Amino acid sequence: MNCLLCNRRLNWRPSFADLLLPGALHPPVLCPTCQASFAPWPGSHCPGCGRTSHEGRLCAECRDWQDRLGWYVPVTSCYQYNQAMKDFMHRYKFLGDYRLRATFQRELTEKARALGDCFVAVPVSAETMVTRGFNQVAGMVDLPLTPALVVAGKGKTRQSEKGRAARLATPQPFALTNPALVAGKRVVLIDDVMTTGRTFYHAATLLRAAGAAQLRGLVLAA
Ligand SMILES: [Zn+2]
Ligand SMILES: [Zn+2]
Repeated sequence: MNCLLCNRRLNWRPSFADLLLPGALHPPVLCPTCQASFAPWPGSHCPGCGRTSHEGRLCAECRDWQDRLGWYVPVTSCYQYNQAMKDFMHRYKFLGDYRLRATFQRELTEKARALGDCFVAVPVSAETMVTRGFNQVAGMVDLPLTPALVVAGKGKTRQSEKGRAARLATPQPFALTNPALVAGKRVVLIDDVMTTGRTFYHAATLLRAAGAAQLRGLVLAA
């Protein structure tokens, strides 16, 4: 087995303790150098979007959502959105390297299962499915995903192609398929990267309106 990112050979052998532990063995998919380039998500972050710049308090954008909606969604992240993570997302999403979906799959899947029992991925537009060939969020987890949301209308412009102000002014890009899919459930809304929270909160608004009993957010990086 080689490192998924740099292709260096991984010299992993299960330790005696690994062999004694119940359950499947989990060999690493990254070499120590690549793994170390990603910064773990710290305990101190904005509770509404998980971004790390606001120590324990809601950031300005989440305060905005809180004022407008009267609620916010507690978000958990796996990593900080540092340069290594930006490079990773570029390779995975924009260069369309689908093999990389396995890189953080185990972490995301375990965290999601700890947060709830109904899993919804932020959807991508039909155009993105055609150009990229996959939903980057759905690919990164090993979970039964609930298809509660779709992209409404003509499909959204890619977030990365817009400026921050334009992103914040976007109208609701999603629609509910069937409220019964999430009503009364402990829903985990999963996205890849948290930037302004705009897309995330549009999706969250619909899930809440559909009667989700509990709503939590999970992202790979914030
Ligand atoms: Zn590597
Ligand atoms: Zn925030």
